[in-house]
Amino acid sequence: MSLSLLAGVWWGVVGLALGSFLTVVIARLPDGRSVVSPPSHCPSCGHRLGPGELVPVVSYLAARGRCRHCGASIPAWYLAVELAAGAGSAALAWLLFPAARLYPALLLWLVGIAASAIDLKVRRIPNVLLAAAAAILAAVLAVGGMRGYLAAVEGAALLSAFGLLVAVVGRGGMGMGDVKYLTLVGAALGPRGGLVALYATMLTGGLYAIALLATGRARKGMRIAFAPFIAAGSMVGAVLGPEVWRWYGGWAA
Ligand SMILES: [Zn+2]
Repeated sequence: MSLSLLAGVWWGVVGLALGSFLTVVIARLPDGRSVVSPPSHCPSCGHRLGPGELVPVVSYLAARGRCRHCGASIPAWYLAVELAAGAGSAALAWLLFPAARLYPALLLWLVGIAASAIDLKVRRIPNVLLAAAAAILAAVLAVGGMRGYLAAVEGAALLSAFGLLVAVVGRGGMGMGDVKYLTLVGAALGPRGGLVALYATMLTGGLYAIALLATGRARKGMRIAFAPFIAAGSMVGAVLGPEVWRWYGGWAA
């Protein structure tokens, strides 16, 4: 078994467990509830989940998506979030291991799932989610020393400036939560990977907005959930960033 395949399997398992935590984050953060207490319980009957009911994906499938206590159905997005976290982490590890940029990429993927789900649900991205991610990123970047931090500051400055510009010019199409999220992406990927992520975000988000206008589904003052586009763009930047710059002949410079 090759090392990158082994890393993929390992991060797939870790990703499933973190995905299980993300379901708690997505269910509780929009209402300002704590993600650590009380422990996981059925939202219908309050039954506290035992170890056998907390295994990612397996527990959901074994109980056929229902609470074992009261039979209330558990929304399918719980399963989708766990699967996405596991599969995405496995794919990133397989593609990027042993490069140091694997770790910011994993962080962006997991934060992207939570930010997208919450933004789709309540049309905002909680500050506490982005602040927690920034703190974890600072620890991850410590491995790279001073150079890593400088790139993070450059990337954050570049993407926050661009995000602010779009937020001001686009008047409400992009909110301050989106700008802060873009700043995190810039810090995680540095200026070059960040620019690729920004380009991919603007392209996909822009095409979506144009499609809404063209089909007459856009309404005045309508707030588009931008987080899914930023999340997708961040993955393009994380995985393909160096390749894109190599095509331009600029990565090594
Ligand atoms: Zn129940």
